[in-house]
Amino acid sequence: MDKNIRICIVGGGPAGLSAGMYLEQKGYTNYTILERLDRVGGKCWSPHYNGRRYEMGAIMGVPSYYAVHDVEEFCGITHDGPKLNRNYKDGRGNVIEPFEPKKNILKIPRLLKMKKQIKKLGELLETKYQGYDVNGHRGVSEGRFEGFSQKSAKREPISGVNPNLKDLALPFNEFCKKNGVELTQDVWIGPYTSFGYGYFDEIPAAYVLKYLDFQTTMNFVKVNLWTWKNGTQFIWESLNDHLKNPARLNSKIEKVERKDGKVYVTVNGQVEEYDKIIVTAPLYIPNKRADGQIGMVDYFDARQDEKDLFSKIDYERYDVLAVETKPEDHPEISYYVFDNMVPEKLGHLMVYYRRWKDTKDQVITTYSLRKHKNSAEIPYETCKKMVLDDLKTMHNPASNVINEWSVYYFPHVFSEDYAAGWYEKVEAMQGKYDTYYAGEIMSFGDMDETAEYSRELVERFF
Ligand SMILES: Cc1cc2nc3c(=O)[nH]c(=O)nc-3n(C[C@H](O)[C@H](O)[C@H](O)COP(=O)(O)OP(=O)(O)OC[C@H]3O[C@@H](n4cnc5c(N)ncnc54)[C@H](O)[C@@H]3O)c2cc1C
Repeated sequence: MDKNIRICIVGGGPAGLSAGMYLEQKGYTNYTILERLDRVGGKCWSPHYNGRRYEMGAIMGVPSYYAVHDVEEFCGITHDGPKLNRNYKDGRGNVIEPFEPKKNILKIPRLLKMKKQIKKLGELLETKYQGYDVNGHRGVSEGRFEGFSQKSAKREPISGVNPNLKDLALPFNEFCKKNGVELTQDVWIGPYTSFGYGYFDEIPAAYVLKYLDFQTTMNFVKVNLWTWKNGTQFIWESLNDHLKNPARLNSKIEKVERKDGKVYVTVNGQVEEYDKIIVTAPLYIPNKRADGQIGMVDYFDARQDEKDLFSKIDYERYDVLAVETKPEDHPEISYYVFDNMVPEKLGHLMVYYRRWKDTKDQVITTYSLRKHKNSAEIPYETCKKMVLDDLKTMHNPASNVINEWSVYYFPHVFSEDYAAGWYEKVEAMQGKYDTYYAGEIMSFGDMDETAEYSRELVERFF
């Protein structure tokens, strides 16, 4: 492709900014990043409090975050944040140690079985499900894998045929049952459901296992995790500062028209002409949102195939509260509340995060989900009240809410559409209409998978 083409990138989150970086590294310098907000970072949002930054969005990474590491190297920064640690509570606020045999004598047989099943799943993933862990979903529903290996930072291109991969379209609980590894869910649920990515009876195994591949899950178990002192937003602010063309903030895109091999973008009342457009912002949002975000199909001259496919996308309602507590009510550490990670406890507090070890003068952030495929959505205010009540039950009552966010989170499709080849159809549309689709839906809703997808998109098409 001609290196001088004019490329418009919609969205200044990890996917959009890293698309800019990888394009630039490949010699494409004529790109423009349009960001609707007055800040970059998207769901990496790290506001200030008493001279430090807390996390309203993304918190952590693992050592296999190769694309995030590319960004760190590009900017000369590193993961220098406070070490993560956590304990567990039951739904009544008692501290528990669910994986410690000595504290759970009656559960020893189950714990031993779980350990065996974890080993078995690890082996199955390397053999029966070979190729499961490439970034993105190309070919999976057809029993193929095609992408770049995530086993090392080199990310070698790999591809192959493996009909067993079709199982990844099953909801994760059914996938586990099929393979006789049901108890592994006890371990996978912590960094999955409590991180807002939905429940195991509704989410295709592909999402669960591409994010929580075996190695990543073991990093969570061993708490071998990365954080950033100035917050995850700092990664993307740094990248933005180092790009030749930093994101243009407060860009309100009113209309996008694609005709005669050109892309016309009306932004803040002016029409701009481009050759190609990369969309990293939401493709489809089924309902009206308080934050004013809308889907691409609502401001683009969306074609019928785009409308048909993107209308299948659902997303999680993941709510974050940042609260202050009185010093005597401050939690000792972060807590996971396993009892609340099931659909029957929809809307309840699943995890709360204490970021700094050295001070109580900090906010605590809480996390809850209020939507499940088969139940009515819990209204935002009801959920907020439930979470504040739960903090009292946990013996860490809030004295004040200082920030709150109901996030457009983890766009995904359900098993039926996954199995029917949703990803193959969207991948086949890449470049048609001079448009490329990137961001969370194309891989998974975390910093690295989205940045990595942008890397691969640039590698594949530019
Ligand atoms: C509470 C929470 C906890 C998380 N924890 C982690 C974690 O620990 N580790 C991890 O790796 N990930 C975590 N994530 C997920 C991670 O933040 C996201 O997956 C990642 O930010 C996705 O990047 P993205 O660029 O695809 O999308 P986003 O970050 O959503 O960025 C999209 C950007 O597009 C902009 N935009 C939207 N519409 C338009 C428009 N019409 N025009 C122009 N711009 C537009 C948005 O304002 C935004 O800046 C967490 C997220 C949240 C909310």
